[in-house]
Amino acid sequence: MSRVYNFSAGPAILPLDVLKQAQEELVDYKGCGMSLLEVSHRGKEYDAVHQEAVANVTKLMGLPEDYSVLFLQGGASGQFAMVPMNLLGEGQVADYANSGAWASKAIKEAKIVGKVNVVADTSKALPTRVPQPEDLKLTPGAAYVHITSNETISGAQWKTFPTTEAPLVADMSSDMLSRPFDAKQFGLIYAGAQKNLGPAGVVLVVMKKDLAERVSDKVPVYYRYKTHLEENSLYNTPPCYSIYILMLVTRWLLKLGGVEAIAKINREKAGRLYAAIDATPFYRGTAEPSCRSDMNVTFRLPSEPLEETFIKEASAQGFKGLKGHRAVGGIRASIYNAFPAEGVDALVSFMKEFEKRNG
Ligand SMILES: *Cc1c(COP(=O)(O)O)cnc(C)c1O
Repeated sequence: MSRVYNFSAGPAILPLDVLKQAQEELVDYKGCGMSLLEVSHRGKEYDAVHQEAVANVTKLMGLPEDYSVLFLQGGASGQFAMVPMNLLGEGQVADYANSGAWASKAIKEAKIVGKVNVVADTSKALPTRVPQPEDLKLTPGAAYVHITSNETISGAQWKTFPTTEAPLVADMSSDMLSRPFDAKQFGLIYAGAQKNLGPAGVVLVVMKKDLAERVSDKVPVYYRYKTHLEENSLYNTPPCYSIYILMLVTRWLLKLGGVEAIAKINREKAGRLYAAIDATPFYRGTAEPSCRSDMNVTFRLPSEPLEETFIKEASAQGFKGLKGHRAVGGIRASIYNAFPAEGVDALVSFMKEFEKRNG
C-alpha cells in the first residue's frame, strides 16, 4: 500500500488507523451481518455510534451541561444561513468580523436574512491577517457576534478570541478540535467535518441550549436548531456514515491525549514549516506572522512559473494538494490534526532541495 502526503485543504487527510478500522468494519459491522451504511438510524448499532460521537465531542471540548452537540447537514455553508435564520430576529443587528473569503460568504448570507454590521474588516489586508479582539467595534445590543476562527484560504487564524456580551458565534471549520479554548466563551460554534473532523456530509454544531429558543415560528421546522436539539440530531435521517467516521476520529483524538496534546503537535508541525519559509527569501509567507495559521500554511515563491514547477515536482514526489486556492494562487500546505509530522519534515527537505536547484 502506498499513501501519499495529502496536504489537501478539504476534504482532507484522515488518520490511517481510522480508515483501517472503517475498512475492517465496512461489510459486517460488529457481527450484525450488515454494513453501517445499510442499517437503520434508529437501530442499536447506529445508536451506539451516535451516542459515542456526541460524548467524544463533549469530552474533547469540556462542554458544560447547558451546551448541546448537533450533527447537521448542508455543510458550513448551510450554517452561514441557519445562524441568522435562528438568531437574528426582526429589527436586530448581527455583528460580523470580515477576516477573508469565508467570513465574506457568511456575511453575504446573513445580509439576506437581516441587518449586518461589519465590525472589523481585514479581508483585503496584505499580508493576510485576521482582526484582533480589541479591533472589533461591537454594536450595543447586537443579536450575536460572528467570527471565522481560521481563514482556510489565506492561512490567517485568530490566536485569542474576543469576550463579547452578545453570544459569540464562530465558524471553526478548519481548526475545530485543533487547540484548546474555553467553549463557554461561545454561544455557537460550527464546523464542516471534512477539514479536521471526518468526511464531508456532516457539520458539527456546538451550541448553548437556550439560544435555540430564539427562533421565530416563520422559520421552517427543519431549519430550526430547536428541532434538532430536541431530537438529538435524529429528527430525520442523519448522515450516519459520516458521523461514524467522525466518532472514530474523535476516539482517535481522545486516545492521543485530547486537544491539548494535538495542539502541541500542531504547533510543532507548523513551526517547522514556517521556520523553513523564514530561513530564506526564496519562500515568502503570505500571512502576518502574528496570525499564521497552524492548519493552513500559505506561502509564495519568487514567480508564478516557479510555483507551478514546485507543485508539479512536489506532486511527482508524493506531496499532493499543495496548490493554493484558485482565488489567491501560491502554495498552501494544509496540515490538519491527522497530518503526520514526518510529512512536514519531508516537505521541508523538498523545499530546501528545490531552492538549491532553482534559487
Ligand atoms: C471549507 C470551509 C467552509 C465551507 O464548508 P462547506 O462544508 O463546504 O460548506 C466554510 N468555512 C470555512 C472556514 C471553511 O474552511
